[in-house]
Amino acid sequence: MLVEAAPPMVAGDEFNPLVSAQARFDEAAARLGIDEGLQKVLRTPSREVIVHIPVQLDDGRLEVFTGYRVQHSIARGPAKGGIRYGPDVTLDEVRALASWMTWKCAVTNVPFGGAKGGIICDPALLSPAELEKITRRYTAELYDFIGPEIDVPAPDVNTNEQIMAWIMDTYSMHSRHTQTAVVTGKPIDLGGSRGRIEATGRGCMVVTEQALRKLGISRSDTRVVIQGFGNVGGMAARLMARSGFKIISIIEYDGAVYNRKGLDILALTRHRKETGSILGFPGGENMDREEALFLETDVLMPAAKEDVITSQNADKLRCKILCEGANGPTTHYADPILADKGVFIVPDILANAGGVTVSYFEWVQDRQGYFWNEQLVNDRMEEIMINSFNDVVAYAVKHGVHNRTAAYMLALDRVAFAIKLRGIYA
Ligand code: GLU
Repeated sequence: MLVEAAPPMVAGDEFNPLVSAQARFDEAAARLGIDEGLQKVLRTPSREVIVHIPVQLDDGRLEVFTGYRVQHSIARGPAKGGIRYGPDVTLDEVRALASWMTWKCAVTNVPFGGAKGGIICDPALLSPAELEKITRRYTAELYDFIGPEIDVPAPDVNTNEQIMAWIMDTYSMHSRHTQTAVVTGKPIDLGGSRGRIEATGRGCMVVTEQALRKLGISRSDTRVVIQGFGNVGGMAARLMARSGFKIISIIEYDGAVYNRKGLDILALTRHRKETGSILGFPGGENMDREEALFLETDVLMPAAKEDVITSQNADKLRCKILCEGANGPTTHYADPILADKGVFIVPDILANAGGVTVSYFEWVQDRQGYFWNEQLVNDRMEEIMINSFNDVVAYAVKHGVHNRTAAYMLALDRVAFAIKLRGIYA
């Protein structure tokens, strides 16, 4: 295991999420007039851990996987953020995602710092037994760096409740007692919270409703295009369809389906389960993924991965509201194009914060050993999301900036204030 001193963050090309994260940070910091030294502190992750984990595969071969855990800030509380698995995970991506967790928790006033983890592996090519071994060894390597008061992981792209259960168990075995609060997004029977699985999608719906109200767009027949049909997009689609939104298109990695009258989301979910794809759905027509992104719609919700809306395609969008269910779906270079078009953006660090908000509730419930009913979880999350939306929009008006810059400014202001109060320990 290697613990590296954090190198200064360096800019790269448009498709490096760290470039977008840094550019937005720089803009907000400059507008707030944060002094140079403090900017350096806030711009640099406080800890980066790289682990190379040997795992014996089912066929007997020994393979080594690389994993990361980046803790961007612990100024406002224990570090918090998901772990993603994927063949394309990079350290810069994890750095960007870790900083977004810091800002996300600050925007919502959830008392955590920010972190993110990742393992370079392709879950589609791994058996459950191999995934379990990778997860357990990664957790064991990180044992000194995570913990209920230190850094609390959670699910992200390609990780789920089962993986969180393995993390909880491995950590607990090493500490010789069960510690449920070391990780969130666990199964309900192992200290998970009711409402956590739906939380990110539900939060997206809540802020979309606020945005519609703000723009004076009537709720009935509101058209929505969702890119991604996984934990965030799929859940948002189900909840939004149930509450009367018209989901006209779902976009996945292999294509899109479209129905101008609205897709039957439950039937589409069944179709995907049976066939492995959303394509060929009898209740809609297949469409090219790019074409679907450019459909005329009230709401576009990118809810998959980074770098979907870029300088190359932003001018073609025809949505009124862009609700960012994913982390970093819009590059920094696309921002001015969207601003010129007058798109109302609900930025990722606000839009998808329902997940970490309910993670916070899970952590609180674990530590209290007292569990809430689902209505209470949903109501409290909704209250936080609405308050955060109003805070960001008010900040945007007060400072004459767009919502994204306002969200960053609000977050930076809160984190900078915490650092000033704590002082720098030498
Ligand atoms: N991975 C989710 C996110 O990006 C949730 C993080 C958490 O709950 O800690 O917000």
